[in-house]
Amino acid sequence: MQEIVVISGKGGTGKTSVLSALASLGPPKILADCDVDAADLHLIMHPRIQKRQEFISGELARIDPDACTQCGLCREYCRFDAIDESFRVWEQDCEGCALCYHVCPSGAIRMEPRFNGYWYVSETRFGTMVHAALLPGAENSGKLVTTVRTEAREIAEDQGIDLILTDGSPGIGCPVIASLSRTNLAVIVAEPTLAAVSDLKRVQELTSYFGIPSGIVINKADINDSLSDEIERFAKDKDLPLLGRIPYEEKITRAQIEGKSITEYDPSGLGEYMHRIWDGIQERLDAEQKASTA
Ligand code: SF4
Ligand code: SF4
Repeated sequence: MQEIVVISGKGGTGKTSVLSALASLGPPKILADCDVDAADLHLIMHPRIQKRQEFISGELARIDPDACTQCGLCREYCRFDAIDESFRVWEQDCEGCALCYHVCPSGAIRMEPRFNGYWYVSETRFGTMVHAALLPGAENSGKLVTTVRTEAREIAEDQGIDLILTDGSPGIGCPVIASLSRTNLAVIVAEPTLAAVSDLKRVQELTSYFGIPSGIVINKADINDSLSDEIERFAKDKDLPLLGRIPYEEKITRAQIEGKSITEYDPSGLGEYMHRIWDGIQERLDAEQKASTA
């Protein structure tokens, strides 16, 4: 089983366009959308949901107003100011530490499992997709990413499919680390802007720290040739393959508006770029596999 994760140093670099185009190419695959804080792959994939599961993670304090004597101890001890003057717990502030539960002399507080969102298994025109939606403000996205990846792996095994294509979280925080662990190849999507180049360097440090083979795709490469060249030099310095440069084209936005991948929208133009990128990815995966079995 091989897993490719598409990541970027920050959101808005075109990661989803690249991912959805790759989904349309190559051998059968299971798709995993691990960008759980801002999932948007469904806008192109149009998933038909087959299964929906609640994502329960951590705990939350609940106060029974009938049992509460309003002694104020819970408010005094709560370090997160999650309990208001009317002795109501504010979900978004409660860290689930259970200190209030332990100090309440009236047994008026109970700890409940915290509902943080849903994860789904869906069918798409490019194969089965596991995806998720975290509730606004909900935490533990790293754990939800792990849930999505575990489910994708199980489905791949059940269906006898050897490839998982994952839309990783942007940035370098806990969710992207959860997206990256034990993957075979990270495809880093970068655009030639000063901020994006510095984000690219940080995300490359992360993949290198975890020993994950990586390659770089420059999106909107022609909006700044000199920064694109700088990214190319950076790739060379770090011994990373430059998998391709995608030019800036209105067609990318139009494809998104129509809910299509760029390979479907513009097969002979942008589609050709994506075919070459896919070939580079395949080469890299083959080399990794050869190295691991040597
Ligand atoms: S500690 Fe218990 S009894 Fe006291 S205010 Fe809090 S919930 Fe009410
Ligand atoms: S569980 Fe912890 S954070 Fe939540 S209300 Fe109780 S003391 Fe505060």
